[in-house]
Amino acid sequence: MTIVDTPERRQLRELTRSFVTREVLPHLSDWERAGELPRSLHESAAKIGLLGIGFPESVGGSGGDLLDSMVVTEEIIRSGGSSGLIAALFTHGIALPHIVAAQDEALIEQYVRPALAGTMIGALAITEPDGGSDVAGIRTCAVRDGDHYVVNGAKTYITSGVRADFVTTAVCTDFPGSGSLSLLVIDKGTPGFTVGRRLEKLGWHCSDTAELSFADVRVPVSNRVGPEDTGFLAIMQQFANERISLATQAYATAQRCVDLAVRWSRDRQAFGRPLVARQVVRHRLAEMHSRTEAARAYVHEVAERVAAGQPVVTEVAIAKNVAVSACDFVVDAALQLHGGFGYMRDAEVERHYRDARLLGIGGGATEIMNEIIAKGMGL
Ligand SMILES: Cc1cc2nc3c(=O)[nH]c(=O)nc-3n(C[C@H](O)[C@H](O)[C@H](O)COP(=O)(O)OP(=O)(O)OC[C@H]3O[C@@H](n4cnc5c(N)ncnc54)[C@H](O)[C@@H]3O)c2cc1C
Repeated sequence: MTIVDTPERRQLRELTRSFVTREVLPHLSDWERAGELPRSLHESAAKIGLLGIGFPESVGGSGGDLLDSMVVTEEIIRSGGSSGLIAALFTHGIALPHIVAAQDEALIEQYVRPALAGTMIGALAITEPDGGSDVAGIRTCAVRDGDHYVVNGAKTYITSGVRADFVTTAVCTDFPGSGSLSLLVIDKGTPGFTVGRRLEKLGWHCSDTAELSFADVRVPVSNRVGPEDTGFLAIMQQFANERISLATQAYATAQRCVDLAVRWSRDRQAFGRPLVARQVVRHRLAEMHSRTEAARAYVHEVAERVAAGQPVVTEVAIAKNVAVSACDFVVDAALQLHGGFGYMRDAEVERHYRDARLLGIGGGATEIMNEIIAKGMGL
C-alpha cells in the first residue's frame, strides 16, 4: 500500500471517479466548445466535498492535505477529465491559499468560504503583459490613499479571469518593478476594474483565460492579504503546492495517454496484425510506461516532503520538470500511435496533446525551474 493508496484515499478516488463520470464526461466536449465551465459544476463539486479538499474545515474546507489533492487530480484525469478542467474548477487552489495562510478572518468569511462552497469563483493574477517569469518585476501598482489603495496596471493569461467574482492580485506597493509586492483581493464590479478579452488558446479550452485591467481602482486596505510588502514571499511559499499540482497533472495525463495508447494498440489492425504485435510498438509503449512510472514515484516522494513541511524548493522544481518532460514525450507518442484519428477533435489524446503544452509554461516555466535547480546545486 502506498501513501496515496490508503482506505480513505481509495474512497476519495471512488468519490472523484463517480463525480467525473456523472457530472463531467457527458458535458466536457460542450464546455470545451463554450470556452468555460458552468457555475453549477462548482456547486455540485462543493456539495460532495471535492472543492474543499486540501483546505481545513475551519475555513470551510473538507480537510486533507496536498496528497489528498493529488489523489483528486490523478483520479479526474484517469477518469477522462483533463488538466484544463482541473485548472478551471480548482482555480481557488491558487487564489485562496495566501488568504488562508494570512489567517484573516474577515477575508476568509468574505471569499474563502463562498469559494469553497462553490458560490463564488476566485482567480490569481500575477502575470502581466510585460512578463510573468520575473515576479519581482511586477508593474501593477497600488498607492495608498487613506483607507484605500488606488490600483493601476494590467494582468494577462489569468485562469478563470472571465468568470471570477474576485481576483487575488499581486501589486507593487512601492515603485514599479521594485519587488515590494502585496496581494490585494479585488472584487469584480469595482469601478475601473475591467475584464478585457477572453483569450483564445491552443489547449485548456474549457478553462476561460482573461486579460484584466485596472484604472484607478479603489480597493479597501482591509482587502490586503497579510502585511504590506509580504506578497513576494507569500507567492513563493504557495508556488510549491501549485508546482506539485502541475507535476501531478503532467504524470496523470501521461498515465491516461499510456492507457489510451495501450488500448488503441491492441485494437488497431495494420498490415493484418494488431499494432501491439510489433516489437517497435511494444517498446514505445514500454518507454511511455517507464517514464510515467518514474515521474509519478518522484513527484509522490517530493509531495510527501512538501506535505511534511520540509524545505524542498529544488526538489519541487525537479519534480515539475521531470513530470512535464515525461508527459511531453508520452502525449506525443500516444498521438502518433493513434495515427490520423489522434489528430481528430474526437480523439481524447488530441485534447491531452494540446492541454499538456501548458504544463511546462505555467507556474514557472521549465527554464525557471532549471534556474532554481542550478541554484540548489550551488551554481
Ligand atoms: C493557459 C494559461 C493560464 C495561465 N494562468 C495564469 C494565472 O491564473 N495567473 C497568472 O498569474 N498567470 C497565469 N499564466 C501565466 C503563466 O504563469 C506565464 O505565462 C508564465 O509564468 C511565463 O511568463 P510569460 O508568459 O510572461 O513568459 P516570459 O516571462 O516572457 O518568458 C518567456 C519564455 O522565456 C524563457 N525564459 C524566461 N525567463 C528565463 C530565464 N531566466 N532563463 C531562461 N529562459 C527564460 C522561458 O522559456 C519562458 O517560457 C497562465 C498562462 C497560460 C498560458
